[in-house]
Amino acid sequence: MITLKFVVDKDFILQHILKSYSDHLPFLRIKKKVFETNSDLYQVLSQNLEPLVIEHGIAKGLSMATKNLNKDLFLVYKTNDFKKIFREAERYAITVEKQWNKNYTTSIRDLSNITKIDFSKIDKQITVYISHPRLSRGRSYIEDNAIAWSHPDEWKNYATVYLWHEIMHHITKDIPCAPHLMHSLIELSCDNELRIRLNGGKAYFKEGGALLGHKYLVNLNKKLLPDWKNYLKDPNENIYQFEKRMRKKYKEEKLLRPMSKIAEWAEWH
Ligand SMILES: [Zn+2]
Repeated sequence: MITLKFVVDKDFILQHILKSYSDHLPFLRIKKKVFETNSDLYQVLSQNLEPLVIEHGIAKGLSMATKNLNKDLFLVYKTNDFKKIFREAERYAITVEKQWNKNYTTSIRDLSNITKIDFSKIDKQITVYISHPRLSRGRSYIEDNAIAWSHPDEWKNYATVYLWHEIMHHITKDIPCAPHLMHSLIELSCDNELRIRLNGGKAYFKEGGALLGHKYLVNLNKKLLPDWKNYLKDPNENIYQFEKRMRKKYKEEKLLRPMSKIAEWAEWH
């Protein structure tokens, strides 16, 4: 059984706010509060270490950033701005979890039909770290069995579709494949076919006028589409076999050139 455990975590949300470029006022006030509390800590959490390195060097700077860590964090977490943002994140987490539960049976059946993978044989619990809905995040941390997630619901069942996208990264991690090709098949399966089966309509690559997916996969997705449509009709070929067949068919294509193991690792770390 595939299950998701939804978590709302103060540290996770604070760090997400600090590295974001959002101009939402409470976020800006939280940033300023951290800066005034400890400017070195601010540089660490906002992931711009240059001022810290320029002022003190890495070794000294990092220890100055973390000197009074618990006390500094407490000063930020007790502000009204942070409390409000955290409550909003909790409320958002509840709506995501409700949507996920409501769609679970239908979406797992649809995705099994699309991928022809027997999901009932997969035992996996993944923790989903929910952030504030004004910040956008969708990323898998495979070694941690975790997904970082938050996004305004741009269209119906948005969270369900993209959580399945992230889950597919976890499920396919040990499958020998061409990584970009597999990623493209995940987009065809989840962002497109699953979305259409859940929401109706029939337009691939677009929803409500907005283009979907990673820009670097657009051409590959389009190239695969005719084969993909035929694959969907064939109950005897699963997504892994299809990936293998497409890898052979398009092996001369630039997008499918095998990545070195180290480049593949670097994409995810
Ligand atoms: Zn992805």
